[in-house]
Amino acid sequence: MEKIKVSILGVTGIVGNKFLQILGNHPYFEINRVYASEHSTGKKIRDTLKVEDYSIKSEILDIKVERLDDSVLKDDSELFFSSLPTEVAREFEKKMAENGKKVITNSSAFRMDPNVPILIPEVNSDHISLVSRDRGFIIANGNCSTIGLVLSMAPLKSYVKEVIVTTQQSVSGAGYPGVASWDILSNIVPYIEKEEDKLENETRKILGEMGKGGISLSQVEVYPTALRVPTRESHMGSVTLKLKEELSESDVKELYENFKYDGKRDKLHLLPEKPIIVRTEKDRPQPELDYLAGNGLSRGMPVVVGRFRIRGDRLSYIFLVNNLIRGAAGSSVLNGEFVVQEGYL
Ligand code: NAP
Repeated sequence: MEKIKVSILGVTGIVGNKFLQILGNHPYFEINRVYASEHSTGKKIRDTLKVEDYSIKSEILDIKVERLDDSVLKDDSELFFSSLPTEVAREFEKKMAENGKKVITNSSAFRMDPNVPILIPEVNSDHISLVSRDRGFIIANGNCSTIGLVLSMAPLKSYVKEVIVTTQQSVSGAGYPGVASWDILSNIVPYIEKEEDKLENETRKILGEMGKGGISLSQVEVYPTALRVPTRESHMGSVTLKLKEELSESDVKELYENFKYDGKRDKLHLLPEKPIIVRTEKDRPQPELDYLAGNGLSRGMPVVVGRFRIRGDRLSYIFLVNNLIRGAAGSSVLNGEFVVQEGYL
């Protein structure tokens, strides 16, 4: 298969660097051009790194960063992977889609737009039909913790009435330089701006039904609390689900064992063999042990769950999601692969 040219917007950020790692080793995507702000313009990627990253290929580190302006509308890449800050995304992603560009984004700017799917192929692959094959489009991935929450409860989705979730989110979730060290070292910050709204609204959209008139939001009730904790990479969530009927431990085990992506997968290299890894030890998952679960190109893509507890119609468990891979760049690349596989390019 001939390689498909792709460009990265916001390449010098924490998520942008993950794109470089994943796309630099991708079997059929090829990095064409990369963009960031005026501040990075003209620099080689190697001179913009905040952390030395030996997993990015050296020929990629030599690519020069371009300034994001309207010249991006003349870029001949077939797909644009975006990790721009919300306000910049709001301006550029819209303009690009209106000019026929196909944008796969991490930003929250258009996630709740009725014409933009928040895609998780294992959960709502039919939502891709919101966009047209013949025009430009924006396809979003969910907020980093929302993706973890939704995937972790996907095997039970038809049973869930109510979700109570408390997330413990790592500092990389705030980008670079992120949270001031004085605020987070030896501390927990019990507030992350707009995070709880995202957990609630995006969950209801991702779990919504695709109909002729678009997506009707799921009626599931979500009660989120988001905390910033001093871990580096991956977000943990402590979840209690109120179910429509009581399930036994063996029912739950069977639902998780049988959960898989059941579509075509020949072009989906980022799709993990198991989207959800169940740990049975009493003290897993843990960020340091589980943030790179999985194998090969899809390392960091599985969500890891454990500590299942049942009391009547309530089921509690813990999940862990890699916020930079499954919660951001990895999900975007998987969505890009899905776009290719389903003939949307
Ligand atoms: P970040 O580290 O702050 O990176 C932001 C990137 O955007 C940098 O490359 C920056 O370039 C570029 N940028 C800033 N202003 C720009 C402008 N005016 N024009 C062009 N480029 C500009 O942030 P991040 O954590 O990677 O997050 C990026 C996006 O992904 C955000 O929308 C965030 O909400 C979303 N997201 C993040 C995570 C996560 O876990 N971090 C997860 C999911 C989604 P310079 O270096 O040149 O300033």
